[in-house]
Amino acid sequence: MGKPMQVSRYWRHFPEKYGLIGGKCENGHLMFPKREVCPVCGSRKVEEHRFSGKGKVVSWTIVRNPPSGFEYYKPYPLALVQLEEGPVVLAQLTDVDPGEIDFGMEVEMVTRKVREFDEDGLILYAYKFRPVLK
Ligand SMILES: [Zn+2]
Repeated sequence: MGKPMQVSRYWRHFPEKYGLIGGKCENGHLMFPKREVCPVCGSRKVEEHRFSGKGKVVSWTIVRNPPSGFEYYKPYPLALVQLEEGPVVLAQLTDVDPGEIDFGMEVEMVTRKVREFDEDGLILYAYKFRPVLK
């Protein structure tokens, strides 16, 4: 036990992980993740914006040497997904055969367990993308 900083940081980002909440400035520019200042026009009036979670794979790679804590999943596909609203998100792909991944493949967000902290039993969830079922 005893990692108060990690725990509070985890909870602060909780909505982002679950709903793919990004930001939208007063001029309608969308961003993910949400920022204090719009990267396009510099506006500081940025509100939360919930994305649909649907997008397309614009680039991808197979990660063969995952960072500590992800070893169980290696190798795993990591992709740049362009959301239908525009912003590009870096995320893992799931429920897909690496041989089936292709540029322009339609994907949708799912929430998956990505990591367990065995010391205090914390389980970290994050968004991943899987192919859209047809
Ligand atoms: Zn803006």
